[in-house]
Amino acid sequence: MQVFVLDTNRKPLDPCSPARARILLAKGRAAVFRRFPFTIILRDRKAGDSVVHEHWVKIDPGSKTTGIAVVQEATDRVVAAVEVSHRGQAIKAALDARRALRRGRRSRKTRHREPRYLNRTRREGWLPPSIESRVANIQTWVARLCRLCPAAAISQELIKFDLQKEEDPEISGIAYQQGTLAGYELREYLLEKFRRTCAYCNKTDVPLQVEHIVPRSRGGTDRVSNLTLACEPCNRRKGSRPVEVFLKSQPEVLARVLEQAKAPLKDATAVNATRWELYRRLQATGLPVECGSGGRTKFNRTIRGLPKAHWLDAACVGASTPEVLDVAGVRPLLVEACGHGKRQRCGTDKHGFPVRHAPRAKMSRGFRTGDIVRADIPNGKHRGTHVGRIAIRHRPSFRLGAIDVHPDRLSVIQRADGYGYSFGKTLVLSLAGTGDSPVA
Ligand SMILES: [Zn+2]
Repeated sequence: MQVFVLDTNRKPLDPCSPARARILLAKGRAAVFRRFPFTIILRDRKAGDSVVHEHWVKIDPGSKTTGIAVVQEATDRVVAAVEVSHRGQAIKAALDARRALRRGRRSRKTRHREPRYLNRTRREGWLPPSIESRVANIQTWVARLCRLCPAAAISQELIKFDLQKEEDPEISGIAYQQGTLAGYELREYLLEKFRRTCAYCNKTDVPLQVEHIVPRSRGGTDRVSNLTLACEPCNRRKGSRPVEVFLKSQPEVLARVLEQAKAPLKDATAVNATRWELYRRLQATGLPVECGSGGRTKFNRTIRGLPKAHWLDAACVGASTPEVLDVAGVRPLLVEACGHGKRQRCGTDKHGFPVRHAPRAKMSRGFRTGDIVRADIPNGKHRGTHVGRIAIRHRPSFRLGAIDVHPDRLSVIQRADGYGYSFGKTLVLSLAGTGDSPVA
């Protein structure tokens, strides 16, 4: 992974190699600006004096994890890879728990908050908190990366499939030579339509194959209404028999399959509001935003022989993906959204009774929960150096991983910014290829 470089005015320069960064730091020409992602700031250089290349920030938004890759245009190299884990589910769980406690209190004779009237208006573009947090996480990281490297454009996976591609006469070159892109869009469409389950046995989480309901050998067409998804055993058992014969003993399954096949997938192109809202907000950054489909992403990744990973999917989003992506040695930065604490001052037990009170102050002795610190402990059971995210308490003993440390022993590596950091595995490409099933 490359190191981000800023000039004396905090303007981004081209990222450099870790070796170069070490030399600059050792000579005193640069200082560490940020640890995660690792960024140095030069003391003696202005952006105007340097050659700066353009970079693409590419995003593959997901509900649990979003992949982000920064690709340098001139070299087709992935200079940074980030995987952001969202906390949407945790937010929903916390809100549900709070709502349940409040409802419970109202029916008991305890202190409670009146239910509020449903007279609130919601502003335009309002999203539920769990979804808002996902979108905001991505916005934050895109903005952050744009500040750290000279970004010229953004690519975002907007829709899952693009059936227009099937009739697109412009698909040529690599798309024709190595299996059509249209096939990938079609698969994504079918996966969405049949909810990633086998049409005949309802199994999920198995590799699925595209299945002709009326077999080709009996005059069945390749039209979408004649296609479904089946797991390999089902597909093999059906063979070239017509569906009516295959499902003779299961008339209800037969009826369902035929009906599902006939019904077009409605609203599917507007699959999810989150992505469109993200698209709207990315456009507000002023950078050009390119849109890609999930089918295109998978196609790009597969023909380049890259394994499945969130950041690699991100690097393969959109038509701008270079023909040969240089991904060697990239180690993704795993970013976990942790939130910024809570405003709630009164902690309750599981029945809603107040059991503890949180102090108003967020800082204690110059630290706050979420700071990434180094602890140098000279003696005792935990002697040595420990690095991690602290949880403060309002007494001089903070929690660092599994140990308690005194604040005097701590020095800050990076201030809390609502995220936790770790590193993923370095990508090692084998010559054996992808090991990816055709439809997953
Ligand atoms: Zn099956």
